[in-house]
Amino acid sequence: MTSVSVPEGSVPDRIPLARIVGPRSVAVVGASEDVGKFGGRVIHYLIKHGFPGRLVPINPNRPAIRGLPAFPSLAALPEPVDVAILAVPVAHLEAQITEAAAAGVGACIVITAKLAESGPEGAALQERVVRIARGAGMRLVGPNCLGIFNPVDRAMLSSSLALEGEGFAPGGIGVISQSGALMGTLVSLAHDHGARFSRCISVGNQADLELCDFLDYLIADEATRVIALYIEGLRSPERFRAQLRQARAAGKPVLIVKAGRSEAGVQAARSHTASLAGSYEAFAAVCREAGAVLLDDWVPMVLAADALDRLPRLKAPGRGVAVLASSGGSTAILVDQLPDAGLRLATLSEATKAVLAEWLPPTHLHLPVDTGNFREGTSAAGINAVVRAFAADPDIGSIVVPMTTSPRMAANAALMPPLAREGDIPLLYVMGAGAVGDEARAAMRAADFPYYDRASDALAVLRALEAEAEGRARAGVPPPERPAGAGPAIPEGLPDEGMLTEAEAKRLLAAYGIPTTRERLATDAEAAVRAAEAIGYPVVLKGVSRAVVHKSDLGLVRLGLADAAAVRAAFAEVAAALDRAAPGGMEGCLVQEMAQGGAAELILGARHDPDFGPMVLVGLGGVLVELLRDVQIAPAPVSLADAEAMLRRLRLWPVLTGVRGRPPADVAAAAEALVRLSWLAADLGPRLAELDVNPLILRGAGQGSIAVDARAVLRR
Ligand code: ADP
Ligand code: MG
Repeated sequence: MTSVSVPEGSVPDRIPLARIVGPRSVAVVGASEDVGKFGGRVIHYLIKHGFPGRLVPINPNRPAIRGLPAFPSLAALPEPVDVAILAVPVAHLEAQITEAAAAGVGACIVITAKLAESGPEGAALQERVVRIARGAGMRLVGPNCLGIFNPVDRAMLSSSLALEGEGFAPGGIGVISQSGALMGTLVSLAHDHGARFSRCISVGNQADLELCDFLDYLIADEATRVIALYIEGLRSPERFRAQLRQARAAGKPVLIVKAGRSEAGVQAARSHTASLAGSYEAFAAVCREAGAVLLDDWVPMVLAADALDRLPRLKAPGRGVAVLASSGGSTAILVDQLPDAGLRLATLSEATKAVLAEWLPPTHLHLPVDTGNFREGTSAAGINAVVRAFAADPDIGSIVVPMTTSPRMAANAALMPPLAREGDIPLLYVMGAGAVGDEARAAMRAADFPYYDRASDALAVLRALEAEAEGRARAGVPPPERPAGAGPAIPEGLPDEGMLTEAEAKRLLAAYGIPTTRERLATDAEAAVRAAEAIGYPVVLKGVSRAVVHKSDLGLVRLGLADAAAVRAAFAEVAAALDRAAPGGMEGCLVQEMAQGGAAELILGARHDPDFGPMVLVGLGGVLVELLRDVQIAPAPVSLADAEAMLRRLRLWPVLTGVRGRPPADVAAAAEALVRLSWLAADLGPRLAELDVNPLILRGAGQGSIAVDARAVLRR
């Protein structure tokens, strides 16, 4: 985004943002009787959804539109309006904006497209238009946006076909979307399920007002309880990050779908960290740290937003799921999917089992509970008693009710909403049937209660609810503290920029208290033997050149050298290999202590993300690390608890705790090293382009860790 010559805020805004989202007066430029036209639809929807303010059609050719007196131009208005909606052809946009600015309009919602998104000419026009607006204190939404839906104030300022829907009652979901079409689609889908929105804002090209401006507004907005965002790119990443924390402090969950996941890691990178901790991963890590919930797709996002708006929230993360079903088959499949969704079936308390025993045979006092096995048949009394017992069980965080076709579907559905509310527990009702299930769906809508058409939707929502509860639980965590001996002084004598050698990178690590191998640089075979004798056999010998990225691929790493003869031979071979790989680039051979007793090898990494600053990474997989992508990323610095949690989230975590006869590794030492590395990354900031410790060898529990290889790139 190019900067505009009139900076934001240099001329005071004519109206505050809240009056743009909820205007008292609206002019529709290009208003028409024809709902086939943009301007025709805008005025149609404003009227249809009961806009209570002053509505002025602008049309030079007609005295009245939809029974409202029309004006030939904005300039002809007797008094200025809060908002003008422009869906004019792009060729007329600049003139219209100039006229609006002169007429005292507070803000323009610019639906017109083909601006910056269409190429340099459009970008130049967009910049001119913003300059004109800002010079007058008039704000712009868009261009290339679909406007604003504001059911709270009945201000539907949009041409979106989603507004064909009836009865947009106000609710608690606030939406900001960088795609107008997607916003219309998700609102219309969720509206059919009974979800209700507070304000939905399509920001388009964000030429003037941007996503973060509206996010500030939603965080402060009393009507908004949950925030859902569709993001393509952020204009102010650090501001956004601070806002995520503010939203959490305000008790408003933020759900996000961000495009661009597949772009992560595609750039050819010199370090593992750069390829594994790309910009999407950094974004995800920042969301997690701030307690926001990142989802892969918009359907689960809007369903989860609705669940957070209309259902009781999880009391705490990590509890189990209770399943109450009407058939064995669909339930078995759902239970099978719980672990994949990071969820687990609850363990029933004795008290809950005692209640079940009143309704079920002794062989069935466990989850999932199938009402088909109820002694008295599927009776309402049994369902009531069992759900109440679930809500009171300390291991049960949520209840899923997958329903299949049965004669009492609608009646049983109607039992659920009051039980969930009374028990203050999220209950996810799944109606998997086709049209015969509509009566049950209608019962849920009538009770103002969410339902799901597919079990997979309910599971995705549950996972989001868990993530939200985890984010809430993180709110009380104290900020990370610097461990003793972790910098902040950077060792003298390192190059200011460019690739560091292994030994130089390890001096950085050592300055932060990360254990590294004892080692010495030798420039001839006899010096290598003297170094080996000082260090103690067995030793490792490695060829040193700044031009080499992966040493062992080129035969430059010789392990387990047991005596002087082995060192001499290795030196000669490595020197020859280095001469082939990087002619003239040899700086000598590094003779180092051979780390013994390793139980596991980790990769640790750090990089500076252009949007969100220092990041650290930890992963498993040795040479397969890029293939397995079993890594965890977090913004630096991290606390010891964060570092431990990152390790536990690795898919291969069980490998570290000891499997199949392998001893458990010293995970406490790994967490400690990660914390120290995170302070190094935080202190160096943008100077540290990227750093890999690969591997950090973990010895057995209590035996510590040691960095045997390291690589870093510094920037000025
Ligand atoms: P590369 O540049 O190929 O990554 P490394 O220095 O990481 O070279 O060495 C390759 C492998 O050799 C390491 O992954 C590790 O398993 C082993 N290794 C390297 N240095 C040592 C050491 N000092 N002690 C024990 N094992 C080592
Ligand atoms: Mg290595």
